[in-house]
Amino acid sequence: MQSFSMLINGDLVQGNRPLDIINPATEEVFQRITCADESQFEQAIGAAKAAFPQWQTVDMQNRRDSLNKLADALEEQTNVFAELLTQEQGKPLAESIAEVGFSCAFIRYFAQSELPIETYQDDETAKIELHRKPLGVVAGVVPWNFPLMIGSFKLAPAVLAGNTFILKPPATTPLCVLKLSEICQQIFPKGVVNIITDNNDLGHILSTHPDVAKVAFTGSTPVGKKIMSAAATTLKRLTLELGGNDAGIVLPDVDPKKIAPAIFATAFMNCGQVCIALKRLYVHEDIYDDLVHELSELANNAIVGNGLHEGVTFGPIQNKAQFIKVQEYLADAKENGVISAGGEVLDGPGFFMRPTIVRDVTDGCKVVDEEPFGPILPVIKYKTIDEAVERANNSVFGLGGSVWSNDLDKAYDVAKRLECGTTWINQHLAFGPTVPFGGAKESGIGVEFAQEGLLEYTQVHVINMAKQTF
Ligand code: NAD
Repeated sequence: MQSFSMLINGDLVQGNRPLDIINPATEEVFQRITCADESQFEQAIGAAKAAFPQWQTVDMQNRRDSLNKLADALEEQTNVFAELLTQEQGKPLAESIAEVGFSCAFIRYFAQSELPIETYQDDETAKIELHRKPLGVVAGVVPWNFPLMIGSFKLAPAVLAGNTFILKPPATTPLCVLKLSEICQQIFPKGVVNIITDNNDLGHILSTHPDVAKVAFTGSTPVGKKIMSAAATTLKRLTLELGGNDAGIVLPDVDPKKIAPAIFATAFMNCGQVCIALKRLYVHEDIYDDLVHELSELANNAIVGNGLHEGVTFGPIQNKAQFIKVQEYLADAKENGVISAGGEVLDGPGFFMRPTIVRDVTDGCKVVDEEPFGPILPVIKYKTIDEAVERANNSVFGLGGSVWSNDLDKAYDVAKRLECGTTWINQHLAFGPTVPFGGAKESGIGVEFAQEGLLEYTQVHVINMAKQTF
């Protein structure tokens, strides 16, 4: 057992409540830690509020230096964080190493960002400028699929813009985020970054508290709705990155054998527990059987096991509640389609399920219309592009989508018709710090990453000077 602390007002502290962390590959409690109670949430908010007046005046270069130090320290401990991430989250070690790398890349991207003053008018009559000021206390609330990376890409723009910050990981994967406490304590003035965890039961304090100016949330659509409703009483700023049910449309001109690996990888990465995983695949009838066959071969070759073991390509589902939920989608798939590969959970211990391809299934059932958030891909046959586009758009979600074709112009025309925040062509799930990311419809509100994402952590302040004196 290692020791993990929260960070409140510059102090590494224990929580007032116990919390057991289960390794999803073994179902054993592998860390016994503590989490915050209401009073410690209040302390963290109070500390962030007290630190804000000073931090917002700290010059930009100083804030940049702090973020670069954070990225350097995290990178130095890549292996420690990666191993911990695999133990708490389940993903194969190589993917955990990649998550640490992405976290550093996001922090470094924001460390070199600018918030320049924009001049709208400057002549003999007036000078009008738009300044970007920080909001105050920002809370970052993150889910269990990429806790370290999502925590990092909220922390970095928030503090760079001059806000003070409270980071709250989920109860089933808090360890890597808590480990950041030790690094942040050495770098940031007290109260600028606070890290607290709960038992998935106190997040509402952040979304209702009058001293929190913004909640940057990534998680499920139902919780996003609760946060939006709770935030209304104080008109908090919100970024909501929510659920998705991304459709991919495959045109008949592709070679199924060549395209299958890319589709498979983007559907099953992290066992499908990715908001922007490909979750519904619409395939033209001419190549349907061949593509299902190729995808099934890949699923059959997957090596499922403990992510710390060499050669494993898919780890367990992250937690028991999600494991049970995914099995409900599997039952629905069996009822409404034909399992072409996978379809079984492995004997325990561990929340393991083989990557599953479902064929001869169509819209109107749970496994197609909802977000399983697990290793299960329904493959749906279509006849015409218009029909595929209509079915892809017929969803409350609108996070991502993709079009796959050797005719790039045709793919581009189809891509423009999809109702989502990002549409990829001949790829899916490609993202990074330099490209804005957000969801349409019930997949979210606001944008993260890039300059657009940074601006969401700021308040517009116009200074309008008449060049006259009295
Ligand atoms: P979740 O919504 O259950 O929990 C996310 C976080 O919200 C956790 O930290 C939880 O403790 C906290 N929370 C719960 N109730 C709260 C409340 N009332 N107020 C404030 N915080 C509260 O999500 P999850 O199960 O951890 O993650 C899976 C979901 O996240 C999926 O739907 C997935 O698509 C989505 N997700 C979206 C994105 C994106 O960028 N759009 C990225 C990753 C995951």
